[in-house]
Amino acid sequence: MAIQSSYQQSGKPKERKTDKKKPPGNDESQLLQPEAQVEETEKQEEKLRPHRLADYIGQTELKDILNIAMQAAKARKESLDHLLLYGPPGLGKTTMSLIIASEMGVNCKITAAPALERPRDIVGLLVSLQPGDVLFVDEIHRLSRVTEELLYPAMEDFRLQITIGKGKSAKTRTIPLKPFTLVGATTRVGSLTSPLRDRFGLLHRLRFYDLDELTQIVLRTANILQAGITPSGATEIARRARGTPRIANRLLRRVRDYVQVKASLPITQELAGEALEMYNVDSCGLDWTDRLILTAMIENFHGGPVGLETLSAAIGEDAHNIEEVYEPYLLQIGFLQRTHRGRVATAAAWEHLGYDNPNRLPLFTINYSQ
Ligand code: ADP
Repeated sequence: MAIQSSYQQSGKPKERKTDKKKPPGNDESQLLQPEAQVEETEKQEEKLRPHRLADYIGQTELKDILNIAMQAAKARKESLDHLLLYGPPGLGKTTMSLIIASEMGVNCKITAAPALERPRDIVGLLVSLQPGDVLFVDEIHRLSRVTEELLYPAMEDFRLQITIGKGKSAKTRTIPLKPFTLVGATTRVGSLTSPLRDRFGLLHRLRFYDLDELTQIVLRTANILQAGITPSGATEIARRARGTPRIANRLLRRVRDYVQVKASLPITQELAGEALEMYNVDSCGLDWTDRLILTAMIENFHGGPVGLETLSAAIGEDAHNIEEVYEPYLLQIGFLQRTHRGRVATAAAWEHLGYDNPNRLPLFTINYSQ
């Protein structure tokens, strides 16, 4: 029995897939950003949002938990427990909050922590709520300290504790509130203070969607937009949507434009692929910046480990952006790993970008013929 080593000689890139010079006027990074873009007005997103729990695709565990919690709250004629949803943008946190309100038959008020700077902002909102209403606060990790402290008794006992005046003449007034449900959303659950986190009865992390779920989302959106599409066309878009419904919907709109101008509907797999290549969205949903991050890690740091700040300086991209926008998806698809010594580009990333990986372990094949 002989052992053959098929160790690959390394170092040189095979076929470069990343041109380091950003193409002029290229906006494909915008296309793959999970945050809502200017063009995606509330009205546009509203049209595409599912309104019932049964129409919300994926996140089965969350739906099961909420189904039980809502039925129980309704039977007891109580408001639903406060809920904290965390995870990357575009995964359906706002949508779920609106669904809860519609399933519970109440109103939903939507705001974001930066709009609640002054105490009167949150006080005004809380006193305006009707029994059982849902208050959705996006980016809840960014609440000011004073707003957060007003929220503690409001969440716990449905009352506001307000101090009027200063020094010795200061008086505390208690204002009763109607029972309500606070739905907090955040991309950074670790930045929440523990007193705030502890006041949520339900905490749930939204995960990236798989290919099948995203395909269903694309088909559903295409149906609403009356854009003809084949199932394999929908899968092609889903494959490049970074596990994120908002991106899937955006890519579908761009592909529909392309197909309407260059060919004719329906959107087929081939046409979807052609359109997305033109927008520089590659077969794994990587954009120019993702490829730049990985290329810099491979070429400048031999694949890593490299610290976040060093990487940020090397490519001139904000460290927060790398960490919050690009990394989660690269981690998810196994192109990047976080180690205690820094970030590492995995063998799959080397392969995808067309580099021979010098760190790859030798592959041994057993030859039974000898
Ligand atoms: P987030 O609040 O997490 O940033 P949103 O709730 O605003 O995300 O969702 C972004 C878009 O994605 C919405 O327009 C919605 O139509 C779509 N979407 C999100 N989750 C789902 C889902 N589970 N099923 C169908 N569409 C979804």
